[in-house]
Amino acid sequence: MNPDTLLAIDIHTHLETSCRNPFDNYGEEYDRAADKYFKSSRRPTIDETVAYYRQQNIGFVNFTVDAESQLGRRRISNEEIAEAALANPDIMIAFGSIDPHKGKMGAREARRLVQDLDVRGFKFHPTVQGFEPADKMAWPLYEVINEHKLPAIFHSGHSGIGSGMRGGGGLRLQYSNPMLLEDVAINFPDMQIVIAHPSWPWQDEALSLALHKPNIWIDLSGWSPKYFPPQLVQYANTLLKDRVLFGSDFPLISPDRWMKDFEEAGFKDAVKPLILKDNAVRLLGLRSGGTAAATAAPPAVPPPAAPAQP
Ligand SMILES: [Zn+2]
Repeated sequence: MNPDTLLAIDIHTHLETSCRNPFDNYGEEYDRAADKYFKSSRRPTIDETVAYYRQQNIGFVNFTVDAESQLGRRRISNEEIAEAALANPDIMIAFGSIDPHKGKMGAREARRLVQDLDVRGFKFHPTVQGFEPADKMAWPLYEVINEHKLPAIFHSGHSGIGSGMRGGGGLRLQYSNPMLLEDVAINFPDMQIVIAHPSWPWQDEALSLALHKPNIWIDLSGWSPKYFPPQLVQYANTLLKDRVLFGSDFPLISPDRWMKDFEEAGFKDAVKPLILKDNAVRLLGLRSGGTAAATAAPPAVPPPAAPAQP
């Protein structure tokens, strides 16, 4: 990926439909509740996502959420995403997602994804995966991420998943309080922790933590910038201008809509390019002219054959 020629880098996009696994309808009620909450049921395939971002000339980080333990539902494979990134290195970067309940087995998978498939970071969703971020259960996984000095994006704040379901679908919002990341940041100081989204109802906790711990970043995904809390814009313009990142949460919000609203949300002109691209270039270790700073091993697995639609 050559950052010079890209308009922006979107650090936060999801793959929510697989072209490899047969569709697993177990737990489909979570999808229907989310469709209702987000007023959308759009779930583009990986090829559609790549084509869209290439047309927009926006680089993107893509991942799934492995929550097999709490939801009982088969995940989308990390390989599907990693191999798409290897096939489209001009525009796409893969992050992995491993359910922390997988313990050491999950840590082995993480190591393999980084070493063999050029995965450049990981995504966690404490509410949907059902774990407290500092739970020792997740430490073998964090050790791998810390060792490779990689970013880890953690969902924070309210979640649309489970919203409106009986008992909130059993999902705990409290696990996504960003202050729970403090012990993780202390024990894994080389892991670059990205607090995803405006962290409402804990926005001030996120800002305080980022001010205090240099390995904490904030991504601005999931909300239109029109609705950002004023203190988030204020700190992004000043003390945190080097650690705030553009993310959309695609397909929930499209990057073109996000960027349009961003123009009018009170960000300083001098800070906008940092948020849209420069900070992500540093976080991801990208180099001007192309290729990542880290040299990745060639793919161990050949690219997928023609996928079957779910
Ligand atoms: Zn997300």
